[in-house]
Amino acid sequence: MISKKMQEQVQNSSVIRAMFEEGKRLAGIHGAENVFDFSLGNPNVKPPEDVKKAIMEIVNDGEAAGVHGYMNNSGYEDVRAAIAKSINDKFDTTFTHNNIIMTVGAAGGLNVIFKTLLNPEDQVITFAPFFGEYRSYVKNYEGELVIISPNTIDFQPNLDEFKEKITPKTKAVIINSPNNPTGVIYSEETILKLSGILKEKQKEFGTDIYIVSDEPYRELAYDNIEVPYLSKYYENTIIGYSFSKSLSLPGERIGYLVISDQAADFENIISAANIANRILGFVNAPSLFQRVIAKCLDAKVDLEIYNRNRELFYNALLSYGYECIKPEGAFYMFVKSPIENEAEFCRMANKKNILIVPGSAFGCPGYVRIAYCVAYKTIEKSLPGFKALIEELKK
Ligand code: PLP
Repeated sequence: MISKKMQEQVQNSSVIRAMFEEGKRLAGIHGAENVFDFSLGNPNVKPPEDVKKAIMEIVNDGEAAGVHGYMNNSGYEDVRAAIAKSINDKFDTTFTHNNIIMTVGAAGGLNVIFKTLLNPEDQVITFAPFFGEYRSYVKNYEGELVIISPNTIDFQPNLDEFKEKITPKTKAVIINSPNNPTGVIYSEETILKLSGILKEKQKEFGTDIYIVSDEPYRELAYDNIEVPYLSKYYENTIIGYSFSKSLSLPGERIGYLVISDQAADFENIISAANIANRILGFVNAPSLFQRVIAKCLDAKVDLEIYNRNRELFYNALLSYGYECIKPEGAFYMFVKSPIENEAEFCRMANKKNILIVPGSAFGCPGYVRIAYCVAYKTIEKSLPGFKALIEELKK
């Protein structure tokens, strides 16, 4: 009885989620401590203490309607103003509450913006490897996701192919940096070139092409590497932010969109996105967590915990003979599969109770993604398995 569209979606349903379920199954058999689940980007680092404090304060002191009631579909005005100020302080921008729409995480924000922008058959370009859910988010609104093949040398976007694939139907380009699944941060040089190409193409076709910058990992950048703030480089920029990873709150579903008033048709986009938030059924982002994050805009998770994991895992895998680019941000490593068929490699890993995700889920076969947002001990205990795997394959 389910719709044809959903039949397709169910068939292609997320490989990552399936792995997560497999992890639970294996834990039931072997005990959770003997299963090494690197499949899902579910942060293991606790939210900062400020979050807990803010929840308690708001719940204890709040006037019921002011905390738990309906509001403008874009969210509480004072919360949006606090976010705008915090962005302005960090990036020297000039946003106000008018530029901010509170969303149900990054996923909610991306759906709102694609609902707002896309006509059937409009094209959205993305760079492989990319977060596989983009396929659904674009398809939800009858758009076409155009995938640029990966540049496996340094995993910066392949800009030559990009230039070739922009057409008059290109409505948006979605980028994600720090990147899931590679951990690569797109450099300022990349952003300058990418926005330069878009400016040229806009002129050539007489169209507007939006960059949608998906930024749930912005705060997770190691070694003080700068993550360029897109609206400073390109006028038609829309930023999707989320607190899922930056404050370890993925289940609370809280994030926001920044729609720059430099963007073409800004006022219509804002009002349409506001309505999209409502009619997609979100109505508004969770009220309690809007209030919580407004009190925690300077709070941070302990990045050193992820950094220790990164160093341990990266150095160990390299010493065993794996090939991998060192992640600069987020909490993923994208490792070259020692055999061409990476799905087969994942199955071999499964037999050692190691759960990793095939790169084809991210549009980049031949690689596997390892999410290292897990306990240090889990990584330590998994390493003999990774060593044995590559040694078996060398024989
Ligand atoms: N975009 C990317 C690149 C992600 O990795 C994720 C979640 O893992 C999301 C969006 C969705 O984030 P949220 O939980 O804020 O909806």
